[in-house]
Amino acid sequence: MSENKSIHEFDFTLICNYFKSIERQGPGSPEVTRKAVSFINELSDSAKIADIGCGTGGQTMILADCIKGQITGIDLFPDFIELFNRNAINTHHEDRVKGITGSMDNLPFQDEELDLIWSEGAIYNIGFERGMNEWNRFLKPNGFIAVTEVSWFTSERPAEIEDFWMDAYPEINTVPAKIAQMEKAGYTPTAHFILPENCWTEHFYAPQVPVQEAFLKEHSENKAAFEFIANQRHEQNLYNRHKEYYGYVFYIGQKRD
Ligand code: SAH
Repeated sequence: MSENKSIHEFDFTLICNYFKSIERQGPGSPEVTRKAVSFINELSDSAKIADIGCGTGGQTMILADCIKGQITGIDLFPDFIELFNRNAINTHHEDRVKGITGSMDNLPFQDEELDLIWSEGAIYNIGFERGMNEWNRFLKPNGFIAVTEVSWFTSERPAEIEDFWMDAYPEINTVPAKIAQMEKAGYTPTAHFILPENCWTEHFYAPQVPVQEAFLKEHSENKAAFEFIANQRHEQNLYNRHKEYYGYVFYIGQKRD
């Protein structure tokens, strides 16, 4: 789900039903997941990995294809986790990939248990800085973290998009500012790259178009549903008009000893 503030004013069941029917709940793509993996040291079969805010697991199953180890997906919404576990079975990953319901501010891991923390389009729920700080202790020394986070690409931007993000997620910041936060939280920044436009257009917004039509038909009497769709469309429109100023960035780092 994207960081549209007004999303919180809608009924969560309604929103979950909407996002359940699409493969991804945030911008990203299989290519980008694979590219991020290429910056991480090879893992062993006994490695432990957490995918935090995993949603229905679109990116988790790709991750499972290109790394070894046991992956635990965690998401706040039980419906997403149910689909996640079904997805693991359908892709024959069920022996290595398990989804559990839980919150990213209260993770069920031991200190220094994890070799890798993965989180695409989700750390904003706790805030980038807080997530980077609080999750650090669960990583083994030299363990890796890889997250995507919305970031500014320029030092100045039009008021319309600045206002939108200040309202939706005031922690949005420039890439150097995010990297500095990561360093301060105890990681060596290993790599970062901007997610290409097709992560938003082809993999995130386009699949929503037919779902929006169906959703409006199904909830034709529901004002909240109507407003929710209007918001999604507004957000997409803003992206099309202002994409040179912001986007998602993959940040990859290694826990310092
Ligand atoms: N990683 C997925 C989903 C991103 S959307 C993808 O890239 O497609 C953000 C996800 O964070 C949603 O699935 C939402 O349910 C989950 N989420 C929101 N708050 C959370 C919390 N406190 N703890 C864990 N997951 C949370």
